[in-house]
Amino acid sequence: MSKILVCGAGGFIGGHLVKKFMEEGHDVVCADFKPYEYWCQYFEENKNFSVDLREKENTDLVTKDVDYVFNMACNMGGMGFIENNKTDCMLSVLINTNMCRSSLANKVKKYFFSSSACVYNASKQSKVFVEGLKESDSYPADPEDGYGWEKLFSERMCRHFYEDYGLETRVVRYHNIFGPFGTYDGGREKAPAAMCRKIINAKINKEKAIDVWGDGEQTRTFLYIKDCLEGTMKVFNSDKFNVYNVGSDEQVSINQMIEIIEDIANYKVKKNYQLDKPKGVRGRSSDNTKISKDLGWLPKMKLREGLELTYNWIYESMTSGDNTSRFTRKY
Ligand code: NAD
Repeated sequence: MSKILVCGAGGFIGGHLVKKFMEEGHDVVCADFKPYEYWCQYFEENKNFSVDLREKENTDLVTKDVDYVFNMACNMGGMGFIENNKTDCMLSVLINTNMCRSSLANKVKKYFFSSSACVYNASKQSKVFVEGLKESDSYPADPEDGYGWEKLFSERMCRHFYEDYGLETRVVRYHNIFGPFGTYDGGREKAPAAMCRKIINAKINKEKAIDVWGDGEQTRTFLYIKDCLEGTMKVFNSDKFNVYNVGSDEQVSINQMIEIIEDIANYKVKKNYQLDKPKGVRGRSSDNTKISKDLGWLPKMKLREGLELTYNWIYESMTSGDNTSRFTRKY
């Protein structure tokens, strides 16, 4: 049994990690700056902290007597959030920086950092169907403004803490993770959850159309949370510092994803394309050659199967009586 700190434990991926570690019998410490009632999954039997991890006194506090750290804390959301909140995104650099400092001071044995596919050079993502992005495609650097720069800088911070001070850091670049307990409204939601919500809304209210940001031809890959956790642990358990993609290579356009969700919902909608809304890069996919070769990880779940589980969870959540989603409420 180990003592494991999950930062961003109130968020989507953090909440799933906490649950997994509890099921495995670990002693779990949780930290997030949201009040507890807004955590995606909250387990009162853990040691929980509602603190701002940009502050060094708080990172010192939560890393005390901890064996391992998973840093999933970050001020982020879908394209609508990251394109309009670049300062807040970049301020997350304080979280990783102070977490690395405190982890070193408190003799943490291993430190995990959650980076993003938003670090990749924009010129490699200008066409609709692109080759999968290899880890080396992040340089020369031209990442997503704000959020992507913060992630790229923080990746380097992890590497330098490893090289200069021997802190055992590990880094992944997640590519669009989705699943139950993810945000589906309120402004921080990502495309799969947003599309599920819109189609469910249309179906319930017998509406014929939904809004789609852009022309719907932009492509992405989406990784189901269960595969994400497996990839995360493979990288965490690897024996030296490295940066790996953890993503799917099942590339679809947003229009194709909507068709899959329509099929799951058994409800067809017309698409109102909103060309002035944030859309991100034109095409993006994950090349998993390196992680597959080094660590033997590849995603298992097909997109449709993951979307079905996600759709059902969102449907249940939207129709269960409490129609004030905890994501919509402000904190
Ligand atoms: P999330 O927004 O659901 O969770 C992040 C959590 O961090 C939130 O609960 C938030 O309250 C917390 N947080 C933000 N600022 C904080 C602060 N100053 N102090 C303490 N807590 C703070 O996001 P997620 O989807 O669970 O993502 C987890 C990690 O994975 C993040 O680093 C994110 O950048 C990365 N990532 C996620 C995706 C994805 O598709 N979900 C893709 C790429 C990278």
